[in-house]
Amino acid sequence: MSTTKNNNENPEELKYSAETHLIYGKNISKKWDYAHHVVSPLSSSVVFRLDTVERGAEGFFEFANPEALQSELAPIYIYDRLGEPNKELLEENLQFIEKGEMAVTFASGMGAISGVLGVLLKSGDELIAHRTLYGCTFSLFHNWYPRLNIKYISTDLTETDNLPGLITPATRVIYFESPVNPNLDLIDIGQIRRIVDEENKNRDEENRIYIVVDNTFATPFCQRPIELGADFTVHSLTKGISGFGTDMGGAVIGPKKFQNLLLLFRKDFGAVLSSKAAWTILTYGLSTLHLRIKRQTENAMKIARFLSEHPKVEFVNYPGLESCKYHALAKKQMIDFSGNFAPGSMIFFGVKGESVDEQKKNGGKFMNFAAQNAYTLTLAVSLGLTRTLIEHPATMTHSVIPTEKLERHGIHPGGIRLAVGIEDPEDLIRDLEQSLDQI
Ligand SMILES: *Cc1c(COP(=O)(O)O)cnc(C)c1O
Repeated sequence: MSTTKNNNENPEELKYSAETHLIYGKNISKKWDYAHHVVSPLSSSVVFRLDTVERGAEGFFEFANPEALQSELAPIYIYDRLGEPNKELLEENLQFIEKGEMAVTFASGMGAISGVLGVLLKSGDELIAHRTLYGCTFSLFHNWYPRLNIKYISTDLTETDNLPGLITPATRVIYFESPVNPNLDLIDIGQIRRIVDEENKNRDEENRIYIVVDNTFATPFCQRPIELGADFTVHSLTKGISGFGTDMGGAVIGPKKFQNLLLLFRKDFGAVLSSKAAWTILTYGLSTLHLRIKRQTENAMKIARFLSEHPKVEFVNYPGLESCKYHALAKKQMIDFSGNFAPGSMIFFGVKGESVDEQKKNGGKFMNFAAQNAYTLTLAVSLGLTRTLIEHPATMTHSVIPTEKLERHGIHPGGIRLAVGIEDPEDLIRDLEQSLDQI
């Protein structure tokens, strides 16, 4: 069982495993002044009473103040957009579990991505990103960053040799997901770290390049990018971490020196995680994360094996399969808290067809039959939930990309994304088989 190496933790807590820590967090926290609750109390108050103007002044002085953030003093809460106990308890636990120095939560995954890039990038800077991205992340880079004079360079980072030639003095961020949404590419985080370290040797602190990894598909149970060389990890908490499909949220985990900027950005741009969502994610999501993801991964492995042997299936990309081209890299990067291989709950596969058009048509047939008839396959976006969700990126999550450009963005037009839940795997396989029979 692994434990954290963070030095801002109580040494007593270091004796316990990450799975245990997900349930207890810091256990006794200065952020929580209701000493006798077993479950963190959910406050519905957006605003907090101040005893004196001096206490108010102190609270404003301490907000996002690097020294106050280092201290173990009880925080002075003022207003929910600045800070509130449930968010901060969730942040403490996410920081611990992702092996970072600090975490700042946001209203959604997109809030977190906009937040970390908002503090790292300014007009004139360049961002290099993997060519395949979550649809709204692509839209942010493609539609909005040009208006801010931030240049977005898209490349294939599964071939890390592509990177050095694209770095210029204006490069500030290397951004990617691993596993990649929706096609389950994997990117070698350690190799990207080595390339960036080489570039950073000749740069001062101001001009450093940072690596930001979206770890939503893996969740910290399967992978901790900071341990592998990333500077920042971002999450959509809406997916596997929240786990039940009831709440939206996002988080940035990274170096302590960026905590104040992230808090100021969140305060002024306003993508604040609601205290109620923070409470749900903390109380239900984190404490069951290991149980859910472990079961999802076991199910995904069985389903990937079934699909890879099915005569109507053209390809299956699942990092757990020995036949997957990323299998060796997955074994290096995707490891659970106890050191076991943890290839995760997401599968990308395509059905056969004589032509691209026929593949797309067959994919549609399969999807529509499943949506109408399969008890355990729900046609829906999102992922990481207790029930299995199935979607067709080309017409759904990635429809912002024109069809003729899909392949250039690494998305097979007939590819189907399966987000495996915690059902009985035999039921899932039976429903998949019946749906494949329709082709
Ligand atoms: C869902 C998702 C996001 C965006 O998260 P929201 O909480 O929906 O804003 C970002 N990245 C990945 C990989 C996602 O799956």
